[in-house]
Amino acid sequence: MKTDILIVGAGPAGIFTALELIKKGSRKKITIVEKGKPIEKRHCPKSETKKCINCRPYCHITHGFSGAGAFSDGKLSLSYEVGGDLPILLGDDFTQELIDYTDKVYLSFGADEHVEGRGKEEEIKNIRKRAIKAGLKLVDCPIRHLGTEKAQELYYSIQQYLLEHGVEILFETQCTDLIISDRVCKGATIEAKNGQVYELLAEHNIIATGRGGAGWLEQQCSIHDIHHRPGTVDIGVRVEVRTEIMEHVNEVLYESKLIGYPKPFKNKVRTFCQNPGGFVSQENYDNGLSVVNGHSYKGFKSDNTNLAILCSHNFTEPFNQPIAFARRIGELTNMLGDGRIMVQRYGDILDGKRTWQDELNKSNVRPTLPDAVAGDITFAMPYRTMTNIINFIEAVDLVVPGFASEETLLYSPELKFYSNKVKMTPDLKTSVSGLYCLGDSSGWTRGLMMASSMGVLMGRKLAKQ
Ligand SMILES: Cc1cc2nc3c(=O)[nH]c(=O)nc-3n(C[C@H](O)[C@H](O)[C@H](O)COP(=O)(O)OP(=O)(O)OC[C@H]3O[C@@H](n4cnc5c(N)ncnc54)[C@H](O)[C@@H]3O)c2cc1C
Repeated sequence: MKTDILIVGAGPAGIFTALELIKKGSRKKITIVEKGKPIEKRHCPKSETKKCINCRPYCHITHGFSGAGAFSDGKLSLSYEVGGDLPILLGDDFTQELIDYTDKVYLSFGADEHVEGRGKEEEIKNIRKRAIKAGLKLVDCPIRHLGTEKAQELYYSIQQYLLEHGVEILFETQCTDLIISDRVCKGATIEAKNGQVYELLAEHNIIATGRGGAGWLEQQCSIHDIHHRPGTVDIGVRVEVRTEIMEHVNEVLYESKLIGYPKPFKNKVRTFCQNPGGFVSQENYDNGLSVVNGHSYKGFKSDNTNLAILCSHNFTEPFNQPIAFARRIGELTNMLGDGRIMVQRYGDILDGKRTWQDELNKSNVRPTLPDAVAGDITFAMPYRTMTNIINFIEAVDLVVPGFASEETLLYSPELKFYSNKVKMTPDLKTSVSGLYCLGDSSGWTRGLMMASSMGVLMGRKLAKQ
């Protein structure tokens, strides 16, 4: 079988490639291969079962049309400083231009006009002053918040637009291997829903398999000698507090992006993905790993705010398996939690004891992930990571008083796999001709907006050819 442009993965990176090709008037045949289902058929059974049942062969939260974006909180970070490393590849100004353009595309599909974090400059100044005193940097990042339910409507409109414009989308179909010979990618081996395996040949092959497909892409890079280098892996915790504690920063910034380099290791530690009135969630990867995440709805709020605290880990020679390192920590935590996410009170961590369920029941903070297991996350967390997290929480407490209270909840494992950064040129060319790698699986992005913007750039490049 043949197509002109093969896109593997219908996440934001893949679908914005197709969208931009159509917008630029390309007449090439576009085929998207997607492991999961169309957006309207995606459904996480947890709403009925009340606990995660580890769906097989894939998790519905992270797979299907719009990828990990569908059930995400839909927070579009509108600054080049947030969401990935594209500025290193493309420069700050051009990355910002791409983001501004992509934001307009989101608006044209019905995104909320309102932008959080703009127009409160005096209050932002005061928060920044406190951050400086605490040794932290506050990053300015306006946010357009779609909300989990609206994100699904918006991506549904995009899905229908692509179908109406002739894009072929093969759902419940996966790419198992790339066809590469003499350093040219000629297509991919595809496994259809009914188990049929066939070769799909294409002139241009775009791999956008997201975080869930990062391990698979790493294997492909090794098998086919696609040049790449181990990147950063982020290991941390999801923190949950009563919204009263974070009310001020939530109102002024919606998302307070703080970065610090706490002593003694001075590794980069940062806040990420803040969800005022949000919910902590569990996501499962194909390899059986369960990790914690968070999201919030536009209209339905909890009493809590959650956010991730992530520590970047960069390894040096001879070690080059950051994904495997983080996965082992996740597996160990899952083992201790009997396959579920673990939660512990901050005060118990400082006291060196586990948390018990009845202690959680007495707290002001009620976990929004009710099936998380009360336990001791420190059994599985490396000393370096735990020390970084504790020292960072103490610094954030100077900006947000009450953040380091005894009952603050820490969920684990919170892992972000950005590894295996595929080497590429500013034209998005890899070391293999006809092969392009985009979005989170490429190691260059880690958020909706930057993954979408990388897709836009890809679409523009291919439309010219
Ligand atoms: C719960 C949750 C909340 C989030 N909230 C936010 C947020 O508020 N703001 C933000 O900026 N980011 C958020 N993110 C991150 C964001 O969703 C991702 O950064 C973004 O979706 C990455 O886009 P992508 O296209 O690179 O990959 P993905 O969205 O992961 O899409 C990849 C697609 O590829 C498919 N695939 C994988 N392997 C194969 C294969 N071998 N063959 C065929 N198909 C394959 C998958 O099924 C998937 O649909 C969140 C993520 C999660 C899980």
